[in-house]
Amino acid sequence: MKAGDRVSPEGDYQLLLDGAWWDGEGETVEVLDKYRLEPFATVRSASHAQVTAMVDAACAAFRRGAPVAYERGAVLERAAALVEERRTLFVRAMQAEAGFTFTDANGEVSRCVQTLKLSGEEARRLAGDIVPLEGAPGQAGRFAFTLRVPLGVVAAITPFNSPLNTVAHKVGPAFAAGNAVVLKPSSLTPVTACLLAESLVDAGLPQGFLSVLHGPGGVARHLIADERVSFFAFTGSTEVGLSIQRAAGLRRTQMELGSIAFSIVCDDADLERALPKIVGAGYRKAGQVCTSVQMLLVHDKVLAEMRDRLVPLVEALLYGDPHVEGTSVGPLISEREAARVEAWIGEAMAGGTTRLVGGARDRAVVPPTLLADIAPSMRVGCAEVFGPVVSLASFDTLDEAIDRVNATPYGLATGIFTNRLGDAFRAARQLQVGGVHVNETSSSRVDMMPYGGSKDSGFGREGPRYAIHEMTEERVVSVTV
Ligand code: NAD
Repeated sequence: MKAGDRVSPEGDYQLLLDGAWWDGEGETVEVLDKYRLEPFATVRSASHAQVTAMVDAACAAFRRGAPVAYERGAVLERAAALVEERRTLFVRAMQAEAGFTFTDANGEVSRCVQTLKLSGEEARRLAGDIVPLEGAPGQAGRFAFTLRVPLGVVAAITPFNSPLNTVAHKVGPAFAAGNAVVLKPSSLTPVTACLLAESLVDAGLPQGFLSVLHGPGGVARHLIADERVSFFAFTGSTEVGLSIQRAAGLRRTQMELGSIAFSIVCDDADLERALPKIVGAGYRKAGQVCTSVQMLLVHDKVLAEMRDRLVPLVEALLYGDPHVEGTSVGPLISEREAARVEAWIGEAMAGGTTRLVGGARDRAVVPPTLLADIAPSMRVGCAEVFGPVVSLASFDTLDEAIDRVNATPYGLATGIFTNRLGDAFRAARQLQVGGVHVNETSSSRVDMMPYGGSKDSGFGREGPRYAIHEMTEERVVSVTV
């Protein structure tokens, strides 16, 4: 079915292979509404043969050659317009399959539209350099230039927590650069990925340049084992990323992995500006964001004020059914994940942590939780929570705060609230993370930015311009006249 014909996200979804939609030959996967915990859609996993056929189709498409840059840009811009036109369908799909609130789902759609447009613009800007060969001795009469050439078949493997944008950030730049993509979205949220694929196909994406396979992680092993895949673009947990990296061997990869994200509030911070940003970045998508504010480090001098002002804001967040207007915090991706988060909170409280805001879990819903007095050894302090839990801690000197961030194995992004330029620049130089955001939280992201991590948070950069760089290589052409 064309997404343009759909009136609701419910239904059975197929896989995309060589420009056509087919039933998967593997097991049926029910896609649950994450709040109601009832199935609303199904997909069927791909068989090994179907995965191989997708790589065959991608190789054939790449051999035929991608359309010229102008046309690639036009396809991506038409896809952006179709996603905009189908906004309500995308929003409803994410409210159901990801448990997102209206605001979170609607925000995903807006960003996806931007990402596809930006990818289209970047397709037209893909250029190499002039190499001044005559600068070297004995090279008179020679010149050289570089071409940025696509790598071939890109495997994109994406997580549940940003079911539209993690896909758009891989497929958009990959096609902009002229690669063919085989996509495996999370089996927890495959519907949004299918709707995006339908929009790209409807926008004129040529046959074979995108295939979509469904199924749990194990299905991806056939894709990873296929030596014809040249590049892996992965977003997900550090553990799975590491396993893909090991299997990739000499093939190139881009890894967007886990994190414990910090935001630092200095004693001169403008709390009026900082507070709404912190609440938004701590609890949106129920904290299931890799850059979510998990640790809020506040200078001793403003800790009491921060606590007193933050508590009522967190208490005021409406949580529960994401289909209800005004809900700010919906369910976690599963009851199992919610039970894990509940257990981590319980363990912290048993160890002496104060729960400033929070309450009992109801199925997959964990109420927005604010903790104080955690010990760094507790799991809420030393592992990625991926839930609506923010922990308050204090610091005395900026060095102490920077050391605390750098002590974790992760390094994705950090926010720092200060108006002292010297402190901001010191933090920017010394924090071992992919992004430092001054007077913003760790979760600040605009899709023009280079985005990615260091240490166990991964490597490589997203953002269409930067991702295109990752997914192409430089070829030098020299000419002797
Ligand atoms: P996950 O690692 O469990 O799954 C990610 C994808 O990998 C899914 O499509 C899954 O089916 C697939 N997969 C699972 N096992 C696999 C295997 N053995 N081989 C190949 N593929 C396999 O992650 P998740 O639970 O979906 O997402 C949450 C994680 O993603 C968090 O750790 C979060 O921090 C991370 N994340 C990072 C970023 C970032 O930009 N750094 C962004 C979003 C999410």
